[in-house]
Amino acid sequence: MDLFEYQGKQYFARHGIAISPGAVADTVAAAVSAADQVGYPVVVKAQVQVGGRGKAGGIKLAHTADEVRFHAGNILGMDIKGHVVRRLWIEKASDIKKEYYASFTLDRSARQHLGMLSAQGGVDIEEVAATNPAAIALLHVDPHTGLSEAAVRDWVARAALDAEAVEGAVDILQKLYACYVNGDASLAEINPLILTPAHEVRALDAKVSLDEAALFRHPEWAEFTGLESLDEREREAAEKDLQYVGLAGSVGIIANGAGLAMSTVDIVTQVGGAPANFLDIGGGANADRMVDALTVINDDPAVKAIFINIFGGITRCDEVARGIVEAGRRVTLRAPLVVRLDGTNAVEGRAILTANESDRLLMKPDMLTAAQTAVALAARG
Ligand code: GDP
Ligand code: MN
Repeated sequence: MDLFEYQGKQYFARHGIAISPGAVADTVAAAVSAADQVGYPVVVKAQVQVGGRGKAGGIKLAHTADEVRFHAGNILGMDIKGHVVRRLWIEKASDIKKEYYASFTLDRSARQHLGMLSAQGGVDIEEVAATNPAAIALLHVDPHTGLSEAAVRDWVARAALDAEAVEGAVDILQKLYACYVNGDASLAEINPLILTPAHEVRALDAKVSLDEAALFRHPEWAEFTGLESLDEREREAAEKDLQYVGLAGSVGIIANGAGLAMSTVDIVTQVGGAPANFLDIGGGANADRMVDALTVINDDPAVKAIFINIFGGITRCDEVARGIVEAGRRVTLRAPLVVRLDGTNAVEGRAILTANESDRLLMKPDMLTAAQTAVALAARG
Protein backbone atom coordinates (compact mmCIF):
# COMPACT_ATOMS: atom_id res chain seq x y z
CA MET A 1 0.00 0.00 0.00
CA ASP A 2 1.60 3.22 -1.18
CA LEU A 3 0.99 6.43 0.73
CA PHE A 4 0.57 9.87 -0.72
CA GLU A 5 3.28 12.36 0.25
CA TYR A 6 1.08 14.08 2.85
CA GLN A 7 0.20 10.72 4.42
CA GLY A 8 3.85 9.68 4.42
CA LYS A 9 4.75 12.95 6.12
CA GLN A 10 2.08 12.48 8.78
CA TYR A 11 3.46 8.99 9.29
CA PHE A 12 6.99 10.39 9.58
CA ALA A 13 5.84 13.06 12.00
CA ARG A 14 4.31 10.41 14.26
CA HIS A 15 7.77 8.87 14.48
CA GLY A 16 9.40 12.17 15.37
CA ILE A 17 10.87 12.95 11.95
CA ALA A 18 10.98 16.69 11.29
CA ILE A 19 8.72 17.87 8.47
CA SER A 20 7.45 21.29 7.42
CA PRO A 21 4.01 22.44 8.55
CA GLY A 22 1.29 22.07 5.94
CA ALA A 23 -2.29 21.14 5.15
CA VAL A 24 -4.22 19.26 2.48
CA ALA A 25 -6.63 20.96 0.09
CA ASP A 26 -9.00 19.53 -2.50
CA THR A 27 -10.12 22.84 -4.00
CA VAL A 28 -8.55 26.15 -4.97
CA ALA A 29 -10.40 27.94 -2.16
CA ALA A 30 -9.22 25.38 0.38
CA ALA A 31 -5.66 25.78 -0.94
CA VAL A 32 -5.78 29.53 -0.35
CA SER A 33 -7.14 29.20 3.18
CA ALA A 34 -4.55 26.49 3.92
CA ALA A 35 -1.81 28.82 2.71
CA ASP A 36 -3.22 31.70 4.80
CA GLN A 37 -3.01 29.42 7.82
CA VAL A 38 0.43 27.96 7.11
CA GLY A 39 1.96 31.34 6.27
CA TYR A 40 3.68 32.55 3.08
CA PRO A 41 5.63 31.62 1.08
CA VAL A 42 4.19 28.15 0.54
CA VAL A 43 4.82 25.30 -1.84
CA VAL A 44 1.75 23.95 -3.67
CA LYS A 45 2.32 20.22 -4.14
CA ALA A 46 0.33 17.78 -6.30
CA GLN A 47 -0.58 14.62 -4.38
CA VAL A 48 -0.15 11.72 -6.79
CA GLN A 49 1.57 8.41 -6.21
CA VAL A 50 4.25 8.91 -8.80
CA GLY A 51 7.71 10.44 -8.67
CA GLY A 52 9.02 13.41 -10.63
CA ARG A 53 6.14 15.70 -9.78
CA GLY A 54 8.47 18.68 -9.67
CA LYS A 55 9.70 18.19 -13.23
CA ALA A 56 6.12 17.62 -14.43
CA GLY A 57 5.01 21.01 -13.08
CA GLY A 58 3.18 19.62 -10.07
CA ILE A 59 5.19 21.56 -7.46
CA LYS A 60 5.14 25.37 -7.36
CA LEU A 61 6.30 28.07 -4.99
CA ALA A 62 3.71 30.74 -4.12
CA HIS A 63 4.34 34.03 -2.31
CA THR A 64 0.79 35.38 -2.22
CA ALA A 65 -2.80 34.16 -2.10
CA ASP A 66 -3.13 35.08 -5.79
CA GLU A 67 -0.16 32.90 -6.66
CA VAL A 68 -1.64 30.02 -4.65
CA ARG A 69 -4.93 30.48 -6.50
CA PHE A 70 -3.12 30.45 -9.84
CA HIS A 71 -0.95 27.38 -9.15
CA ALA A 72 -3.64 25.40 -7.33
CA GLY A 73 -5.98 26.05 -10.26
CA ASN A 74 -3.36 24.75 -12.69
CA ILE A 75 -2.28 21.72 -10.68
CA LEU A 76 -5.71 20.41 -9.61
CA GLY A 77 -6.92 18.19 -12.44
CA MET A 78 -3.47 18.02 -13.99
CA ASP A 79 -2.46 14.64 -15.39
CA ILE A 80 0.95 13.54 -14.13
CA LYS A 81 2.09 10.37 -15.87
CA GLY A 82 -1.47 9.06 -16.00
CA HIS A 83 -2.37 10.13 -12.44
CA VAL A 84 -4.95 12.88 -12.16
CA VAL A 85 -4.31 15.34 -9.31
CA ARG A 86 -7.30 15.52 -6.95
CA ARG A 87 -5.58 16.77 -3.83
CA LEU A 88 -2.89 19.26 -2.91
CA TRP A 89 -0.50 19.53 0.00
CA ILE A 90 0.16 23.16 0.88
CA GLU A 91 3.42 23.36 2.76
CA LYS A 92 5.39 26.16 4.35
CA ALA A 93 8.27 26.78 1.94
CA SER A 94 11.75 25.88 3.13
CA ASP A 95 15.07 27.54 2.46
CA ILE A 96 17.33 24.85 1.12
CA LYS A 97 21.09 24.75 1.43
CA LYS A 98 21.58 21.13 0.41
CA GLU A 99 19.42 18.25 -0.79
CA TYR A 100 20.27 14.69 0.28
CA TYR A 101 18.69 11.30 -0.32
CA ALA A 102 17.86 8.70 2.37
CA SER A 103 15.88 5.48 2.33
CA PHE A 104 15.37 2.09 3.91
CA THR A 105 14.05 -0.89 2.05
CA LEU A 106 14.37 -4.66 2.14
CA ASP A 107 17.25 -6.41 0.36
CA ARG A 108 15.67 -9.81 -0.09
CA SER A 109 18.74 -11.53 -1.48
CA ALA A 110 20.88 -10.35 1.44
CA ARG A 111 18.03 -11.10 3.89
CA GLN A 112 18.72 -7.74 5.49
CA HIS A 113 17.39 -4.23 5.50
CA LEU A 114 19.19 -1.87 3.19
CA GLY A 115 19.74 1.80 3.86
CA MET A 116 20.78 4.16 1.07
CA LEU A 117 22.18 7.59 1.75
CA SER A 118 23.56 10.14 -0.67
CA ALA A 119 24.77 13.73 -0.56
CA GLN A 120 23.36 14.02 -4.10
CA GLY A 121 19.64 14.03 -3.40
CA GLY A 122 16.73 15.92 -4.89
CA VAL A 123 17.33 14.71 -8.42
CA ASP A 124 16.54 11.27 -9.78
CA ILE A 125 18.29 8.83 -7.47
CA GLU A 126 18.10 6.22 -10.26
CA GLU A 127 20.23 8.56 -12.35
CA VAL A 128 22.79 8.92 -9.56
CA ALA A 129 22.80 5.13 -9.16
CA ALA A 130 23.43 4.72 -12.89
CA THR A 131 26.02 7.43 -13.44
CA ASN A 132 27.75 7.70 -10.07
CA PRO A 133 26.96 4.68 -7.87
CA ALA A 134 29.81 5.55 -5.50
CA ALA A 135 27.80 8.62 -4.47
CA ILE A 136 25.28 6.36 -2.70
CA ALA A 137 26.47 4.96 0.62
CA LEU A 138 24.87 1.60 1.35
CA LEU A 139 24.20 0.20 4.80
CA HIS A 140 22.99 -3.32 5.41
CA VAL A 141 21.18 -3.80 8.71
CA ASP A 142 20.69 -7.20 10.28
CA PRO A 143 17.06 -7.15 11.45
CA HIS A 144 17.98 -9.20 14.54
CA THR A 145 20.63 -6.85 15.87
CA GLY A 146 19.09 -3.62 14.60
CA LEU A 147 20.79 -0.32 13.88
CA SER A 148 23.26 1.24 16.32
CA GLU A 149 24.03 4.96 16.48
CA ALA A 150 27.69 4.15 15.75
CA ALA A 151 26.69 2.40 12.51
CA VAL A 152 24.60 5.41 11.51
CA ARG A 153 27.51 7.80 12.21
CA ASP A 154 29.82 5.70 10.09
CA TRP A 155 27.21 5.62 7.32
CA VAL A 156 26.75 9.40 7.39
CA ALA A 157 30.53 9.83 7.21
CA ARG A 158 30.75 7.49 4.22
CA ALA A 159 28.02 9.45 2.43
CA ALA A 160 30.06 12.62 3.09
CA LEU A 161 27.14 14.76 4.21
CA ASP A 162 28.09 18.32 5.16
CA ALA A 163 29.48 18.74 8.67
CA GLU A 164 26.53 20.96 9.70
CA ALA A 165 24.11 18.20 8.73
CA VAL A 166 25.71 15.34 10.66
CA GLU A 167 23.87 15.58 13.99
CA GLY A 168 20.48 16.21 12.39
CA ALA A 169 20.99 13.41 9.88
CA VAL A 170 22.08 10.89 12.53
CA ASP A 171 18.93 11.70 14.47
CA ILE A 172 16.55 11.50 11.49
CA LEU A 173 18.10 8.33 10.05
CA GLN A 174 17.63 6.48 13.34
CA LYS A 175 14.02 7.61 13.42
CA LEU A 176 13.58 6.65 9.78
CA TYR A 177 14.83 3.14 10.55
CA ALA A 178 12.50 2.84 13.56
CA CYS A 179 9.60 4.10 11.49
CA TYR A 180 10.42 1.66 8.68
CA VAL A 181 10.80 -1.39 10.97
CA ASN A 182 8.21 -0.75 13.69
CA GLY A 183 5.81 0.75 11.20
CA ASP A 184 5.97 -2.35 8.96
CA ALA A 185 6.94 -0.35 5.90
CA SER A 186 8.55 -1.99 2.89
CA LEU A 187 9.96 1.35 1.78
CA ALA A 188 10.60 4.59 3.63
CA GLU A 189 12.27 7.17 1.42
CA ILE A 190 13.11 10.84 1.91
CA ASN A 191 14.14 12.68 -1.24
CA PRO A 192 15.13 15.34 -0.66
CA LEU A 193 16.26 15.27 2.91
CA ILE A 194 17.27 18.90 3.26
CA LEU A 195 19.80 20.93 5.18
CA THR A 196 18.55 24.47 5.77
CA PRO A 197 20.76 27.56 6.08
CA ALA A 198 19.91 27.41 9.81
CA HIS A 199 21.45 23.93 9.86
CA GLU A 200 18.20 22.10 10.42
CA VAL A 201 17.71 18.71 8.73
CA ARG A 202 14.18 17.96 7.52
CA ALA A 203 12.19 15.63 5.29
CA LEU A 204 10.93 17.64 2.31
CA ASP A 205 9.33 14.70 0.50
CA ALA A 206 8.04 11.32 1.67
CA LYS A 207 7.60 8.07 -0.16
CA VAL A 208 6.27 5.30 2.06
CA SER A 209 4.99 1.85 1.13
CA LEU A 210 3.35 -0.15 3.90
CA ASP A 211 3.39 -3.94 3.99
CA GLU A 212 -0.27 -4.91 3.67
CA ALA A 213 0.43 -8.30 5.23
CA ALA A 214 0.81 -6.38 8.52
CA LEU A 215 -2.55 -4.61 8.20
CA PHE A 216 -4.03 -6.75 11.01
CA ARG A 217 -1.77 -5.16 13.63
CA HIS A 218 -2.21 -1.60 12.42
CA PRO A 219 -5.80 -0.49 12.96
CA GLU A 220 -4.46 3.05 12.55
CA TRP A 221 -3.80 2.35 8.86
CA ALA A 222 -7.53 2.53 8.23
CA GLU A 223 -7.05 6.22 7.41
CA PHE A 224 -4.64 5.30 4.60
CA THR A 225 -6.80 2.71 2.90
CA GLY A 226 -8.61 5.26 0.77
CA LEU A 227 -8.60 3.63 -2.63
CA GLU A 228 -8.11 6.87 -4.56
CA SER A 229 -5.25 5.64 -6.70
CA LEU A 230 -7.00 2.47 -7.84
CA ASP A 231 -8.68 2.22 -11.21
CA GLU A 232 -12.42 1.58 -11.35
CA ARG A 233 -11.97 -2.18 -11.73
CA GLU A 234 -9.51 -2.40 -8.84
CA ARG A 235 -11.83 -0.38 -6.62
CA GLU A 236 -14.70 -2.77 -7.37
CA ALA A 237 -12.47 -5.83 -6.77
CA ALA A 238 -11.15 -4.43 -3.48
CA GLU A 239 -14.71 -3.90 -2.27
CA LYS A 240 -15.38 -7.57 -3.01
CA ASP A 241 -12.17 -8.54 -1.24
CA LEU A 242 -10.58 -10.05 -4.36
CA GLN A 243 -6.86 -10.01 -5.10
CA TYR A 244 -7.09 -8.17 -8.41
CA VAL A 245 -4.64 -6.18 -10.51
CA GLY A 246 -5.90 -4.50 -13.67
CA LEU A 247 -3.89 -5.00 -16.86
CA ALA A 248 -4.35 -3.66 -20.37
CA GLY A 249 -5.31 -6.77 -22.38
CA SER A 250 -8.48 -8.59 -23.46
CA VAL A 251 -8.27 -12.00 -21.74
CA GLY A 252 -9.90 -11.93 -18.30
CA ILE A 253 -8.21 -14.29 -15.86
CA ILE A 254 -9.49 -16.04 -12.75
CA ALA A 255 -7.25 -18.52 -10.94
CA ASN A 256 -7.01 -19.91 -7.43
CA GLY A 257 -3.76 -19.08 -5.70
CA ALA A 258 -1.41 -16.20 -6.49
CA GLY A 259 1.19 -18.52 -8.03
CA LEU A 260 -1.28 -20.12 -10.43
CA ALA A 261 -2.75 -16.71 -11.27
CA MET A 262 0.72 -15.43 -12.19
CA SER A 263 1.43 -18.55 -14.26
CA THR A 264 -1.89 -17.97 -16.02
CA VAL A 265 -0.94 -14.39 -16.86
CA ASP A 266 2.38 -15.76 -18.17
CA ILE A 267 0.94 -18.52 -20.32
CA VAL A 268 -1.69 -16.24 -21.87
CA THR A 269 1.13 -13.85 -22.79
CA GLN A 270 3.30 -16.72 -24.04
CA VAL A 271 0.68 -17.92 -26.53
CA GLY A 272 0.32 -14.41 -27.94
CA GLY A 273 -2.55 -13.05 -25.86
CA ALA A 274 -2.83 -10.06 -23.55
CA PRO A 275 -4.21 -10.56 -20.02
CA ALA A 276 -6.86 -8.05 -18.91
CA ASN A 277 -6.07 -8.68 -15.27
CA PHE A 278 -4.55 -10.78 -12.54
CA LEU A 279 -7.19 -12.23 -10.23
CA ASP A 280 -6.56 -14.67 -7.41
CA ILE A 281 -9.90 -15.96 -6.18
CA GLY A 282 -8.18 -17.71 -3.27
CA GLY A 283 -9.22 -20.96 -1.66
CA GLY A 284 -12.90 -21.89 -1.38
CA ALA A 285 -13.82 -20.81 -4.91
CA ASN A 286 -17.55 -21.25 -4.23
CA ALA A 287 -20.41 -19.83 -6.26
CA ASP A 288 -20.49 -16.50 -4.41
CA ARG A 289 -16.75 -15.91 -4.93
CA MET A 290 -17.12 -16.94 -8.58
CA VAL A 291 -20.03 -14.52 -9.05
CA ASP A 292 -17.95 -11.70 -7.53
CA ALA A 293 -14.91 -12.51 -9.67
CA LEU A 294 -16.92 -12.87 -12.88
CA THR A 295 -18.82 -9.66 -12.15
CA VAL A 296 -15.60 -7.64 -11.84
CA ILE A 297 -14.17 -9.14 -15.03
CA ASN A 298 -17.45 -8.83 -16.89
CA ASP A 299 -17.62 -5.11 -16.04
CA ASP A 300 -14.32 -4.54 -17.87
CA PRO A 301 -15.33 -3.61 -21.43
CA ALA A 302 -11.92 -4.65 -22.77
CA VAL A 303 -12.48 -8.31 -21.85
CA LYS A 304 -13.29 -10.49 -24.89
CA ALA A 305 -12.73 -13.94 -23.37
CA ILE A 306 -12.45 -15.25 -19.81
CA PHE A 307 -10.03 -17.95 -18.76
CA ILE A 308 -10.80 -19.73 -15.46
CA ASN A 309 -7.81 -21.76 -14.35
CA ILE A 310 -8.37 -23.85 -11.21
CA PHE A 311 -6.21 -26.40 -9.53
CA GLY A 312 -8.17 -28.15 -6.81
CA GLY A 313 -6.27 -28.80 -3.61
CA ILE A 314 -8.33 -28.40 -0.48
CA THR A 315 -10.90 -26.77 -2.75
CA ARG A 316 -12.60 -29.57 -4.69
CA CYS A 317 -13.10 -29.25 -8.45
CA ASP A 318 -16.74 -30.40 -8.28
CA GLU A 319 -17.49 -27.55 -5.88
CA VAL A 320 -15.76 -25.09 -8.19
CA ALA A 321 -17.59 -26.47 -11.22
CA ARG A 322 -20.93 -26.04 -9.46
CA GLY A 323 -19.84 -22.50 -8.58
CA ILE A 324 -19.00 -21.73 -12.19
CA VAL A 325 -22.32 -23.08 -13.49
CA GLU A 326 -24.27 -21.21 -10.81
CA ALA A 327 -22.31 -18.00 -11.46
CA GLY A 328 -22.97 -18.39 -15.18
CA ARG A 329 -26.69 -18.33 -14.36
CA ARG A 330 -26.40 -15.28 -12.11
CA VAL A 331 -24.12 -13.11 -14.25
CA THR A 332 -24.96 -12.24 -17.84
CA LEU A 333 -21.56 -12.71 -19.37
CA ARG A 334 -20.50 -10.66 -22.37
CA ALA A 335 -17.56 -12.93 -23.15
CA PRO A 336 -17.13 -16.70 -23.53
CA LEU A 337 -15.65 -18.74 -20.67
CA VAL A 338 -12.82 -21.19 -21.07
CA VAL A 339 -12.26 -23.44 -18.06
CA ARG A 340 -9.38 -25.66 -17.08
CA LEU A 341 -9.97 -27.79 -13.98
CA ASP A 342 -7.47 -30.13 -12.46
CA GLY A 343 -6.63 -31.61 -9.08
CA THR A 344 -8.91 -32.97 -6.36
CA ASN A 345 -12.20 -34.34 -7.80
CA ALA A 346 -11.31 -33.17 -11.30
CA VAL A 347 -13.29 -35.99 -12.91
CA GLU A 348 -16.47 -35.06 -11.05
CA GLY A 349 -15.90 -31.36 -11.74
CA ARG A 350 -15.39 -31.89 -15.45
CA ALA A 351 -18.54 -34.00 -15.64
CA ILE A 352 -20.57 -31.12 -14.19
CA LEU A 353 -19.11 -28.67 -16.72
CA THR A 354 -19.51 -31.08 -19.65
CA ALA A 355 -23.22 -31.28 -18.89
CA ASN A 356 -23.34 -27.48 -19.24
CA GLU A 357 -20.94 -27.01 -22.15
CA SER A 358 -21.86 -24.65 -25.00
CA ASP A 359 -20.11 -22.22 -27.32
CA ARG A 360 -20.12 -19.81 -24.34
CA LEU A 361 -18.65 -22.31 -21.87
CA LEU A 362 -15.74 -24.39 -23.08
CA MET A 363 -13.76 -26.87 -21.07
CA LYS A 364 -10.14 -27.69 -21.87
CA PRO A 365 -8.08 -30.49 -20.35
CA ASP A 366 -4.86 -28.55 -19.75
CA MET A 367 -3.57 -25.06 -19.18
CA LEU A 368 -1.88 -24.61 -22.54
CA THR A 369 -4.88 -25.62 -24.67
CA ALA A 370 -7.16 -23.54 -22.47
CA ALA A 371 -4.88 -20.49 -22.86
CA GLN A 372 -4.71 -20.94 -26.65
CA THR A 373 -8.49 -21.26 -26.87
CA ALA A 374 -9.11 -18.17 -24.72
CA VAL A 375 -6.60 -16.12 -26.71
CA ALA A 376 -8.13 -17.22 -30.03
CA LEU A 377 -11.61 -16.32 -28.79
CA ALA A 378 -10.39 -12.93 -27.55
CA ALA A 379 -8.79 -12.24 -30.95
CA ARG A 380 -12.10 -12.96 -32.64
CA GLY A 381 -13.67 -10.33 -30.35
P1 GDP B 1 9.12 15.14 -6.55
O1 GDP B 1 9.54 15.92 -7.74
O2 GDP B 1 7.86 14.37 -6.81
O3 GDP B 1 10.20 14.26 -6.03
O4 GDP B 1 8.75 16.20 -5.39
P2 GDP B 1 9.61 16.84 -4.20
O5 GDP B 1 8.71 17.08 -3.08
O6 GDP B 1 10.82 16.02 -3.93
O7 GDP B 1 10.05 18.24 -4.77
C1 GDP B 1 10.90 18.37 -5.90
C2 GDP B 1 11.86 19.51 -5.73
O8 GDP B 1 11.17 20.72 -5.52
C3 GDP B 1 12.76 19.36 -4.51
O9 GDP B 1 13.87 18.55 -4.77
C4 GDP B 1 13.13 20.81 -4.24
O10 GDP B 1 14.23 21.18 -5.03
C5 GDP B 1 11.91 21.59 -4.70
N1 GDP B 1 11.16 21.99 -3.51
C6 GDP B 1 10.15 21.30 -2.90
N2 GDP B 1 9.74 21.94 -1.80
C7 GDP B 1 10.50 23.05 -1.68
C8 GDP B 1 10.60 24.13 -0.72
O11 GDP B 1 9.89 24.18 0.31
N3 GDP B 1 11.50 25.10 -0.95
C9 GDP B 1 12.33 25.06 -2.04
N4 GDP B 1 13.21 26.05 -2.18
N5 GDP B 1 12.30 24.08 -2.95
C10 GDP B 1 11.40 23.07 -2.78
MN1 MN C 1 11.09 13.92 -4.22
